[in-house]
Amino acid sequence: MSNYTIISPVTEKPVQDIHLADVTETDAIILKAAHAFESWRKVNPGDRARILRAFASLVDSHIEELAQLEVLNSGHTIGNARWEAGNVRDVLNYYSAAPERLFGRQIPVPNGIDITFKEPLGVIGIIVPWNFPMPIAGWGFGPALAAGNTVVLKPAELTPLTAIRLGELALQAGIPEGVFNVIPGKGSVVGDRFVTHPLVRKIVFTGSTGVGKQIMRGCADQVKRLTLELGGKSANIIFADADIEKAAAGAPGAVFDNAGQDCCARSRILIQRSAYDKFMELFEVAVKKFRVEDPSLDTAEMGPLISSTQYARVSEFLPEGTPIAFQGSKPTGPGYWFAPTVLAPKDSKDRAYREEIFGPVVSVLPFEDEADAIRIANDSEYGLSGSIWSRDLARAVRVSRAVEAGNLSVNSNSSVRYWTPFGGYKQSGLGRELGPDALDAFTETKNVFFDTQG
Ligand code: NAD
Repeated sequence: MSNYTIISPVTEKPVQDIHLADVTETDAIILKAAHAFESWRKVNPGDRARILRAFASLVDSHIEELAQLEVLNSGHTIGNARWEAGNVRDVLNYYSAAPERLFGRQIPVPNGIDITFKEPLGVIGIIVPWNFPMPIAGWGFGPALAAGNTVVLKPAELTPLTAIRLGELALQAGIPEGVFNVIPGKGSVVGDRFVTHPLVRKIVFTGSTGVGKQIMRGCADQVKRLTLELGGKSANIIFADADIEKAAAGAPGAVFDNAGQDCCARSRILIQRSAYDKFMELFEVAVKKFRVEDPSLDTAEMGPLISSTQYARVSEFLPEGTPIAFQGSKPTGPGYWFAPTVLAPKDSKDRAYREEIFGPVVSVLPFEDEADAIRIANDSEYGLSGSIWSRDLARAVRVSRAVEAGNLSVNSNSSVRYWTPFGGYKQSGLGRELGPDALDAFTETKNVFFDTQG
């Protein structure tokens, strides 16, 4: 028996003890989910849709409670946390329309009829990181349940509270026992068991690229299906012809939101050299105005880092002599506060420029022309997100086609919507979540030929 004590990132005080499941307990729940699959897959599509809508509606009436829980557990700003709980509701509502529409095709063949079916996979293992506990869980369990699968979900050790509550709400909404199971535990125990247990037919993993690679190797043993959402080092590319005021005003939110603990953080700003000075002047004003404060305040734009470990990790990126251009403010007193930090590296060799920091640190680098911007943006092992700022639409089209990343925004930093696909190029991931196609990741296509020759 082991427990984990959740520590508030704001007060550094203990919040709650959580029991961590061992392998025996995990196996028992996987077996329960496998049994529940036999009946859940047969629930008629209209009823499955109704149950998912009831779940969405119950989440909706608990948005404030879930949001407050995330502020307590993770130190998210209350504004963000409300959006995150609302996102779970929206994802459930969106995929609740799927069960009656999960049809295959009828393909013309000689001497018979050929039909494809979308069959559920079985038990889906969802492994969630600590940075966005609610949305990332929902992006997995929403489509998985809609397609007729059952789910075992492991929240991150640091942030299990909202997942546990969502598990209770699911039962209350009428999701049958065993269909949606939340198992708090260690990655090396519960997460690893999802990978090795033959009854878990697919893993949905969001987290670091290192652990993702380990999971991918583990899944190879059983040719287990896998979706990976991994790290990022996204570029915010600003051309001199852009609305520099708007780009500078939006740049702090694009990287410091959630204290930079965001896989989509635009943590590399590439600015055309002729606009560099103007941008930096405006950016400094915007960073200094960025409100880092008690996340329960409605005005808060950024809270603390998640843990003392994360604080130490981020600090390591700023050794003596780091080229800090300027910093924002942070509260004094307890809490893992880290001031928004802007670096002006000499070139792209800097560790802070190349590696994912997962904290409120951004590097600004000048570029010469369009080709240079594309080359620098793509000079990264990652390819998750990014922004392109230009008033020249033809250029924006060219650059958005040339940047190797899965989720881009032009003259905006907003690239996550539950009804559009989300995922990474290169080492940022494998497969896509959300949008109309995510259901393909939770079904097998079965082809059946019926001979009509008699
Ligand atoms: P992490 O890789 O340390 O942990 C993620 C999850 O995996 C946790 O639940 C953890 O317990 C579990 N885990 C750890 N070792 C495991 C193992 N051996 N087997 C199975 N499970 C294991 O990542 P983190 O520090 O929690 O999250 C931060 C990372 O997540 C960042 O790299 C970030 O970019 C990435 N992320 C990516 C996306 C995306 O959509 N691409 C979204 C959010 C976060």
